Amino acid sequence: MEHEALIRLSIFLGLFTLFASIETWFPRRVRSLPRKSRWFTAWSLTLLNTLTLRMMAFVLPVLAVGAAADATHQGWGLLNLITLPAWFELILAVLILDFAIWLQHLITHKVPLLWRLHRVHHADRDIDVTTAIRFHPVEIALSMLIKIAVVYALGPTAIAVIIFEIMLNGTAMFNHANMRLPAKVDQLVRMVLVTPDMHRVHHSVHRQEHDSNYGFALSIWDRMFNTYIAQPKAGHDKMEIGLAWRDERPAKLGWSLWLPFQKK
Ligand SMILES: [Zn+2]
Ligand SMILES: [Zn+2]
Repeated sequence: MEHEALIRLSIFLGLFTLFASIETWFPRRVRSLPRKSRWFTAWSLTLLNTLTLRMMAFVLPVLAVGAAADATHQGWGLLNLITLPAWFELILAVLILDFAIWLQHLITHKVPLLWRLHRVHHADRDIDVTTAIRFHPVEIALSMLIKIAVVYALGPTAIAVIIFEIMLNGTAMFNHANMRLPAKVDQLVRMVLVTPDMHRVHHSVHRQEHDSNYGFALSIWDRMFNTYIAQPKAGHDKMEIGLAWRDERPAKLGWSLWLPFQKK
């Protein structure tokens, strides 16, 4: 727990470097826009999101991990009311947290006000490892509030929340990476995890396709709830990524920050 922040940052930077290198050497798709401006925007948003969470940590008594420790201490939440083997409770907690994120993602696509915020992620005209960190600060703040509520209701251990957050962060970078898995490996991996080909469908310009494959880590929920689309209609090389804005604006930081408040 003491070195939690350092461990998480090291895993994040290590996986980012790994996927960014694979993309550079063996890209899956040809880029629509130059990498420089898109990467500047995604990293700036990440910096703003980190600052937002730091500010929230000042204002709120706890964030997600602190909420788990507090819930355990107070005996609050489902998992603190029942007795299960520790290993089983850990798996159950990670599964339920992943389902909650899946459901939250689906809701952000259905509620117009939330979709305005989430469009910032989808407006990216290419999909690569930096798309995984391209979110509007207001969406990140809202997500944290929802996560705190879910943690208090569920009552997982702090370690379960840390493991879940590392897994979510790592799998998000993996499935946004502009890389190609051999077809057979993709089929095998996507039985459990969301693969880059599976999540790319979710970034299609077509509404029916971007309203599918909501999973970030586990692929099981989309199959279970019938929101799964195996491949894009136009194929992975020809499909269009992004939303209605087909120029360079989505790569710009100011435009991306203002996007939720735009008239259309
Ligand atoms: Zn989405
Ligand atoms: Zn995405």
